[in-house]
Amino acid sequence: MSKVDMQKGYFGEFGGSFVPEPLQAALDYLEQAFEQYKEEPEFNEELEYYLKEYVGRPNPLYFAQRLTEKLGGAKVYLKREDLNHTGAHKINNVMGQVLLAKRMGVKRVIAETGAGQHGVATATACAMFGMECVIYMGEEDTRRQALNVFRMELLGAKVVAVKDGARTLKEAVDAALMDYAQNYENTFYLLGSAVGPHPYPTIVRHFQSIIGREARAQHIEKENRLPDYIVACVGGGSNAIGLFAPFFDDKEVRIVGVEPGGKGLLTGQHAAPLTAGEPGIIHGFKCYMMKGEDGEPASTHSVAAGLDYPGVGPEHSYYKAIGRAEYVTISDEEALEAFHTLSQTEGIIPAIESSHAVAYAIKIAPSLPAEQSIIVNLSGRGDKDVQQVFDIMHNTK
Ligand SMILES: *Cc1c(COP(=O)(O)O)cnc(C)c1O
Repeated sequence: MSKVDMQKGYFGEFGGSFVPEPLQAALDYLEQAFEQYKEEPEFNEELEYYLKEYVGRPNPLYFAQRLTEKLGGAKVYLKREDLNHTGAHKINNVMGQVLLAKRMGVKRVIAETGAGQHGVATATACAMFGMECVIYMGEEDTRRQALNVFRMELLGAKVVAVKDGARTLKEAVDAALMDYAQNYENTFYLLGSAVGPHPYPTIVRHFQSIIGREARAQHIEKENRLPDYIVACVGGGSNAIGLFAPFFDDKEVRIVGVEPGGKGLLTGQHAAPLTAGEPGIIHGFKCYMMKGEDGEPASTHSVAAGLDYPGVGPEHSYYKAIGRAEYVTISDEEALEAFHTLSQTEGIIPAIESSHAVAYAIKIAPSLPAEQSIIVNLSGRGDKDVQQVFDIMHNTK
């Protein structure tokens, strides 16, 4: 356990669990199982086995030489989460949680998904472990993401189109939570980012920290020292906290989280709660969030569907409050430019989410000395985004 969880389930004043009683019973049950199994050698050996043989870990910490030369300053290293099976970091957490479900004797896994990435990762692991899989998705999202619905179905999952309210992610979350509260003794609710009520932020951080542990050791092996900066994009915050947590005590390492600045902070069309939000309670936990005039979560915008969320992980909220990390924004336009730059200088098409982190490195590297280095978490690959970028460039959307 990281030393930042001082009081159970809290990161400073953030986190906690603000949920109705039936759901709290489910969360207590989950917490107890997690605390037990995460210490078991056989559990960890099994997880290690699948991360190596199925996910393809460890992935490289790649020195982006041409990008570095082009920028003419600090060395840029890319942590290649894009090379994982299914093309992003989400699988690290999903493998961990599905194994936990298996240990708990549960055969049914549920999850909710907006853009579909987490649903696909969950369906993948469930297929591999022979688990029943139900994915809740707002009906509107099932139409927008028809290909991801088909992917999940190919993988044997059942996709439930939720027809309440605005028929998007919020309603899908509500439906999944209701299912979980009713069925937790035989159902595991697999949460996809470092958000939600305790114990989820702690569980997700635990399973994603493999990113930072590998990156730290790989950087020391290559450079004989720690990096000067570590940079990751922040949606809910799972790929970022996975990179950041193992560097928490390395005070000389500057930690930077990149939020989606969308069309600009002044337009209100962004998803940058750490930069432009305020503390509040959303989806059962306390964090920085974007609030509307009524105090409810405000509507958000980002060119990157995976970053488009009005709240953020409680641990990031805490890192900000104590000044351990700095949180900045990158606009849609800057992210799209970085998408092209990385593709052309390194032959790596990044996810639009990850392009936000790349864009920040591109911004700061030129003014840093050549002996310094920056690790950028390349959270995912951009194959999923090629059509969207095509449409933006051709103004068809
Ligand atoms: C989902 C996703 C993200 C955002 O989620 P976090 O929990 O903030 O990491 C970032 N990058 C990629 C490639 C994603 O699929």
